[in-house]
Amino acid sequence: MEERPLTTSPFDDDHLHEECGVFGVMGVANDAAALTALGLHALQHRGQEASGIVSFDGEHFHAQHALGHVGKTFSRQDVIRRLLGPAAIGHNRYATTGETALRNVQPFFADFDFGGFALAHNGNLTNAYTLRKELIRQGSLFHSTSDTEVIIHLMAQSKQSSAVDRLIDALRQVEGAYSLICLMPEGIIGVRDPLGVRPLVLGRLGDAHILASETCALDIIGAEHIRDIERGELVVCNGKTVTSYHPFEQKEDRFCIFEYIYFARPDSEMHGHSVYDVRKKIGMELAKEHPARADIVVPVPDSGVPAAIGYAAQSGLPFELGIIRNHYVGRTFIEPSDHIRHLGVKLKHNANPNLLAGKRVALIDDSIVRGTTSTKIVEMVRSAGAKEVHLRISSPPTRFSCFYGVDTPQKEKLLAHKFSIEEMAKLIGVDSLGFVSIDGLYRALGKKSRDTSKPGYCDACFSGDYPTALTDISSHMPQQQFSLLESGGAE
Ligand code: AMP
Repeated sequence: MEERPLTTSPFDDDHLHEECGVFGVMGVANDAAALTALGLHALQHRGQEASGIVSFDGEHFHAQHALGHVGKTFSRQDVIRRLLGPAAIGHNRYATTGETALRNVQPFFADFDFGGFALAHNGNLTNAYTLRKELIRQGSLFHSTSDTEVIIHLMAQSKQSSAVDRLIDALRQVEGAYSLICLMPEGIIGVRDPLGVRPLVLGRLGDAHILASETCALDIIGAEHIRDIERGELVVCNGKTVTSYHPFEQKEDRFCIFEYIYFARPDSEMHGHSVYDVRKKIGMELAKEHPARADIVVPVPDSGVPAAIGYAAQSGLPFELGIIRNHYVGRTFIEPSDHIRHLGVKLKHNANPNLLAGKRVALIDDSIVRGTTSTKIVEMVRSAGAKEVHLRISSPPTRFSCFYGVDTPQKEKLLAHKFSIEEMAKLIGVDSLGFVSIDGLYRALGKKSRDTSKPGYCDACFSGDYPTALTDISSHMPQQQFSLLESGGAE
């Protein structure tokens, strides 16, 4: 594995952000850690690099953190047995900031005068670096390179006495996106930032309460979905009741639209919509906006599948699995050598010449980031004998970086930031290229179009319309150009 220097700067490489999954349970007899392991397994797609669980048995906290998939460590009975107690929280991490080290694996834990406190974060804080520099100047000693740790230090500085009041104090000072699950002696806490950028749901299993990033994590343990935690809401589950607070200034709804396009699992219910349904509808909008003179519709699996089903249904073209994905290829298998990394796409996907030879193919994928995947997939589809390739993308062009917890490179590395759609079509080697428009995306969510004054979602990666201040970026990086760009197609 590549050795990286120890760093405290979030600007050391082009992977600034983390995608994560969080889970928590309060009020089960002694199975909290086992249920948390199952929940994290269902949320594996939100972070595959490392996981951690912290439990509380009424007297002591117990913790285990490990690199690798959840199952590698947390399916072991000896590990789960050690994580005693009726309450536990867990975290999946997609390690992209700094180095992949255990010290960055959450939940983070700290001992306060009120007792122990563990915290798991999904999202990204946009003023963490600025706060961190100031905290270090005042004497704080940081243990990790993660943005999340500032919350612990801000809590330590708070003059409030209870854990909840200290947490509120700390969160009033941070900017950006956070869905947090915390564990304290009195129970678990769930909290979403005032814009509600990242998801967080509340569930029930018998008398116990569950908090999770997505409903698929409730399904796996047989829990019932009660409701979403509201934006700006903080809930405390103490094993019997759920107490709700709204301690932050009221703000507009800005749920991340990319959760629907790519990030969430299609069997999850998110922010009032089925993710699968929305993806399929985006495919239908895409077919209306960018029809293709094609013989078959082929998804890039797995992320392109629901949109391709919608595209095929709308266009009346047959849907074919012309590309098969090998599910046994992990990131670690691709990483070790340049030669193997180059083969990456071939290891993950293979085209079926029996379906593709001589055909005009409408190829559907969810997004183009750097353009590496599409270029290789298109080359593969052509080598399998396709006569024409018409690439259709179920998101608008990704022209801006995400600073709220989705892993995207700096905008200079985004293909759509550098090139027009015509130029992208040439570079990728397709006969035509079409992206769903930003209005098409909103239509798939039941709106008429994007309301520019009140979009109702965060779509900054497509529009450049960032709903919070970007303190770290504006004070430490070149000025961003925030302009709303039109998306379209190239024939
Ligand atoms: P690229 O090869 O850089 O253009 O990446 C595009 C591919 O990566 C698409 O097939 C997406 O399914 C996938 N993708 C998009 N966004 C992300 C993300 N944030 N993390 C991991 N994969 C992604």
